Amino acid sequence: MPIQPADTERMVEDTVELCRIPSPTGLTKRVREHLIRVYESLGFPIRQTRKGALVITLGGSGRPLALAAHFDTLGAMVRSIKPTGRLRLNIIGGFPLNHIERENCLIHTRAGKTLEGCIQITEASVHVFRESGKTERTDKTVEVVIDEKVSSREEVKDLGIRPGDFVSFDPRTVVTKSGFLKSRHLDDKASVAVLMQFARMISEGRIVPDRKTTLVLTSYEEVGHGGAASIPADTHDLIAVDMGAVGDDLETNEHKVSICAKDSGGPYDHDLTTELVRVAERLELDYAVDIYPAYSSDVMVALKAGHDVRHALVGPGVFASHGYERTHREALENTLRLIVGLAARKKG
Ligand SMILES: [Zn+2]
Repeated sequence: MPIQPADTERMVEDTVELCRIPSPTGLTKRVREHLIRVYESLGFPIRQTRKGALVITLGGSGRPLALAAHFDTLGAMVRSIKPTGRLRLNIIGGFPLNHIERENCLIHTRAGKTLEGCIQITEASVHVFRESGKTERTDKTVEVVIDEKVSSREEVKDLGIRPGDFVSFDPRTVVTKSGFLKSRHLDDKASVAVLMQFARMISEGRIVPDRKTTLVLTSYEEVGHGGAASIPADTHDLIAVDMGAVGDDLETNEHKVSICAKDSGGPYDHDLTTELVRVAERLELDYAVDIYPAYSSDVMVALKAGHDVRHALVGPGVFASHGYERTHREALENTLRLIVGLAARKKG
């Protein structure tokens, strides 16, 4: 397959760029507009659904295939402004509060203003609170300290902050010399970047889709209904391209493309999953087949919403998911190779 080192380079760059655009579920307009610009420049027809997903037609004919990834990420919302001028949060998506402790954040007001802050525990100073390590992390003890000179509810309101404002977390995106990507929100920005490179290869005329191929980029995955709508009605096979789970006894690591056989929503389609395994074997990819015990994907949601499709889940291995995540450029490359191997052929 004609995948060059430059393709991997590009995926790393795109992942970094995407991770740095704040897009907590519900506040995804900026990243959506970025994606629209990219796909328009590549020359593909793009349709935005009413709830904000993007459906991109890549071409090809026969046995319609849809590849789904999500561009929304974890985040939070201001629940209330405390009398101290700190913010109480309500989280968006699933993660323990210690995963965001000490993280810089942005508060996005409804009027479009962005303010900086840091997420801290109420007993943050060890020189004052000897037992601060033992403080239970709850939505009462983990709060946003706004980086403005404020110490009352009124002063915070004067800044324009209100309950219902979104909070996004500093992704702290880093690419190491050894090829690791460390960042929040690699779930699922890394896969969005993989699909973007797949589209770019088609746009450059290096590969052609083997069958009618559509990308579905969703914006409500982290709260569980991204894939419920927007899947084209004629879809035969629906494959979620989403992070592979890493840890404990699972075989996936940060270098592999992971093929999920079952997650908490049940088994994935046996034949389609087997087809993916065969492609991975034929191309001698570094891959693993795993069961993700605490995971659900947009394609499970699509099935629950009534779509009659064969479904599968693949993606780059991502360590420390929903925290400060890590993957490696090799995982992006293996994922791209698998998708190209399954869905396209060399031109000519
Ligand atoms: Zn995800």
